[in-house]
Amino acid sequence: MSCIALVVAAGRGSRFGSPLPKQYHVLDARPVLRHCLETFAAHPGISGVRVVISPEDRALYDLASRGLTLLEPVIGGATRQESVLRGLESLAGLAPDSVLIHDGARPLIDAATLDRLLDSLKQGPGAIAAVPVTDTLKRGNEAGTITATVDRHGLWRAQTPQAFHFPVLLAAHQAVARGPLAGTLTDDAAVAEAQGIPVSLVPGSEDNLKITARSDLERAGALLALRRLASGGAADPSGVPVLPRIGKGFDVHRFGEGDQVRLCGVDIPHDQGLAGHSDADVGLHALTDAVLGAVAAGDIGSHFPPSDARWRGVDSAVFLRHAADLVAAAGGRLVHVDLTLVCERPKIGPHRAAMVAKIAEILDLSPDRVSVKATTTEKLGFTGRREGIAAEAVATVLLRET
Ligand code: MG
Repeated sequence: MSCIALVVAAGRGSRFGSPLPKQYHVLDARPVLRHCLETFAAHPGISGVRVVISPEDRALYDLASRGLTLLEPVIGGATRQESVLRGLESLAGLAPDSVLIHDGARPLIDAATLDRLLDSLKQGPGAIAAVPVTDTLKRGNEAGTITATVDRHGLWRAQTPQAFHFPVLLAAHQAVARGPLAGTLTDDAAVAEAQGIPVSLVPGSEDNLKITARSDLERAGALLALRRLASGGAADPSGVPVLPRIGKGFDVHRFGEGDQVRLCGVDIPHDQGLAGHSDADVGLHALTDAVLGAVAAGDIGSHFPPSDARWRGVDSAVFLRHAADLVAAAGGRLVHVDLTLVCERPKIGPHRAAMVAKIAEILDLSPDRVSVKATTTEKLGFTGRREGIAAEAVATVLLRET
């Protein structure tokens, strides 16, 4: 019986105070999303894995999935229900016997739960991982006062994966999408229920938590650390080494009209400005390319083409932050950057501390891991003739080998 795992990872929300979607944050030297992909890819009962992503996250996805053999990702829709439907329709040509729908923000799914779900599909068309409610349940009013005690008998918390015979779930999703419940249902069991399809409850795991807040990430990290201790305390549960990668960046901007230059996010009064499409911050551009280089993720122009009007006059901190997000998506940890600005004027020294502070803030690094230096070229060359400013940078990233 062929079964494909369809992982829904198209959500872009993050409650972590960061624009990086939660499924691309780092958990134990890997992106949250990658954990479940590795589990599915390694399971003998699963013949393929497809991820539903947001179009904006393609570069993040490519880094998070590097080295894994997966089906091409598909682009999701406006709601979870729509994203799943798009994923299911994309699988129609492959015609699997069954499909497991999983939330990409549940990294700790285990093989035993997958075994139970696949077993259950031999008895019926649908089964979901769930855990019985053990706490006493209270209903409260808006003032936070109890108005009732709810009978917990027969109540379960639904998790994912949710497993179904493929043609049954595809037909159910298509039927519901045409009706009044379109876009309103929060899991696939609800779609099946709406079509009168019986769905079994299969024991899931308390560890199969959903990452919604930073505290969940910490809890998941602690659970992984415990698993590692239980398995003998290796540096990485898979024994895969974490090694440094060095990225290098270089950039030049010419002087033009203006009365200030922006260098490393700091505006410095000067008798000229720097010409460029964005804010022309040559320092942050060199740093961005260094950070991108460390994870082999292209260059600043490939992510932010100068031909795109969206980047006109934009704060280059946006570019650098995106590069740091891509490091996270690769499961890497940026540990150090070193930048040299090359110019005769303006004088960098008086602004160095402010530049270090700004870069440290953008990259969420301690200032002692940020180096900003300056030099002249002894009045030689274009920098010596005060025609422009050059910058070069290196960045060090610790990356788990795959
Ligand atoms: Mg530039």
